[in-house]
Amino acid sequence: MINLAEELKQVRFVAIAGHVRPDGDATGSCLGLYHYLKKNYPETDVRVYLENTPQAYSKVPGIDEVFHEVGENEAPDVFFCLDCADEKRLGGFAELKKRAKRVICIDHHVSNGGFADVNYIVPDASSTSELVFRLLDEEKMPVETAENLYMGIVHDTGVFRHSCTSPETMEIAATLMRKGIDAAGIINRTFYDKTYHQNQILGRALLESILLMDKKVIFSAIRQKEMDFYGVGPSDLDGIVQVLMSTADTEVAIFLYEVSPQTFKVSLRSREFVDVSTIAAYFGGGGHIRAAGCTMQGSIYDVVNNITLHIEKQLRQERDSD
Ligand code: AMP
Ligand code: MN
Ligand code: MN
Repeated sequence: MINLAEELKQVRFVAIAGHVRPDGDATGSCLGLYHYLKKNYPETDVRVYLENTPQAYSKVPGIDEVFHEVGENEAPDVFFCLDCADEKRLGGFAELKKRAKRVICIDHHVSNGGFADVNYIVPDASSTSELVFRLLDEEKMPVETAENLYMGIVHDTGVFRHSCTSPETMEIAATLMRKGIDAAGIINRTFYDKTYHQNQILGRALLESILLMDKKVIFSAIRQKEMDFYGVGPSDLDGIVQVLMSTADTEVAIFLYEVSPQTFKVSLRSREFVDVSTIAAYFGGGGHIRAAGCTMQGSIYDVVNNITLHIEKQLRQERDSD
């Protein structure tokens, strides 16, 4: 466990960053820690770095104080790298890691090999936000931290639904609620509410989805021209893979969207047996056993074919072991 007070003794500049295309947990864990340090270490210059966040997070406390680029002479004494399975996932903020005197990584990805000076990695934790909570003194926690950590936990547990939700997760959520946060508002505004166009593209993805491998796998893809047609970007596609996964009796959901010609961002989810983290890691990505991602080249057909081969292998092993 990290001792924050020890780590931050006489530290002047602290930088905090999360992974590229920040989700609720990357955003919530970074801003949660940010508000805590700002309140309790007033002498320290604390900055958060994140790529552009989805419009749904526009009311999240501190979102307007986020830096999107690293300044020329910015060299942190301590750099917190949150919710990042590897250095690549930092994108442009890897520069902060390079310049930092000390790098602290807090994460819950099973694929994280521990690339920092200090690594606090707990693969069975629900979220990085839960791990940040464990480092903080409850009494000294401002409500803005509680709101952000609650958002992170809500997003990575799919609103306390996924198997990563533990009794401790629920206890932490209860403690955060007692801080006086608008829990229902956070869940609705940042997780469930969708714009009209987001719902339209979700409908399109569902309409064009295909069942494969004896209906064990559900697959859908969105091409750039469809995103252009509906006027949406990648962050508007968050949550589509989860809706695909809610199709009864499927074991794996595969969702792709085109990031450039012949290049696709791949999202994988599984219900019970398939370890999608090892599949994503095989293709250069990573994640968790039930939720993982990677980027792959080729036609949609190539990508799906390559992934389903791995799923088939795992399901065969599962059958053989029975
Ligand atoms: P996504 O399908 O993008 O929502 O990602 C599912 C999970 O896998 C999240 O926890 C991501 O942080 C993680 N993940 C996605 N892409 C990658 C990647 N390229 N490398 C490592 N982890 C990833
Ligand atoms: Mn994340
Ligand atoms: Mn996470």
